[in-house]
Amino acid sequence: MTVPVLSVRDVTVRFAGLTALDDVSFTVAPHTVHALIGPNGAGKSTCFNVLSGLARPASGMVRLGGTDLTRLAPHRIAALGVARTFQNIVTTAGTVADNLMLGRHLHARAGYLASALRLPRAVREERAHLSHARRIAELTGLGAYFDSPVGLLSYGDRKRVELARALCLEPRVLLLDEPVAGMNAAERARTAEVIGRIRAELDVSVLLVEHDMGLVMRLADEVTVLDFGRRIAHGTPDEVRRDPEVLRAYLGT
Ligand code: ADP
Ligand code: MG
Repeated sequence: MTVPVLSVRDVTVRFAGLTALDDVSFTVAPHTVHALIGPNGAGKSTCFNVLSGLARPASGMVRLGGTDLTRLAPHRIAALGVARTFQNIVTTAGTVADNLMLGRHLHARAGYLASALRLPRAVREERAHLSHARRIAELTGLGAYFDSPVGLLSYGDRKRVELARALCLEPRVLLLDEPVAGMNAAERARTAEVIGRIRAELDVSVLLVEHDMGLVMRLADEVTVLDFGRRIAHGTPDEVRRDPEVLRAYLGT
């Protein structure tokens, strides 16, 4: 059995009287796309909030490789290798390059003063960050817009800037919360292709929350299904699609 890159064990999250996650467990294997699906309110975004340190579980544990992330602050978790995008946030300021460099700055070694004085080490480092950001822009289909203001891009491209910014952290696990929400068919297809390329070319696992079932079925290696905060199914896309519990949750019968 392969050692998981991310493991979520018996995680419970409560909000004033509501159990948003109820004893949820799953693991993400290296170099895979793992989809986390379920009806609205199932607890998917809450799960991402736990994984990125924005929500504290009442009980349970999250581990990245051998490191316990459960009570770490969001910036520590990001520095350790878990990057995320948000469901409803789309960038509007700066150029594509500016946004991607925001992601890179977590890896800055030269101090602020060295950068401000443009010392050779800082200049070298800046150049390396820029070339990495450019590579990520190419990979995410944004290469042609690297120096363009994001405000001039289409909605789909702007949403992919978020994905690219998260990738610039060089995460071991990338959390994507509804990456194609609001996109038209052509934009969805492009983003699906980009996620496939990320999986093939980068040393990263993707945890994907997405309502577009066609996309989930096409991209995911494994699927975990939540309903009312509980894990109701897990397996390959084909197994999950035929699971009676899953059909019941989605069809409400
Ligand atoms: P999903 O992303 O699967 O649609 P969420 O994780 O956003 O679901 O929400 C799970 C449940 O927790 C929902 O019932 C939601 O209303 C509730 N919830 C989420 N965040 C909060 C919060 N900060 N305070 C109170 N309830 C919340
Ligand atoms: Mg959500």
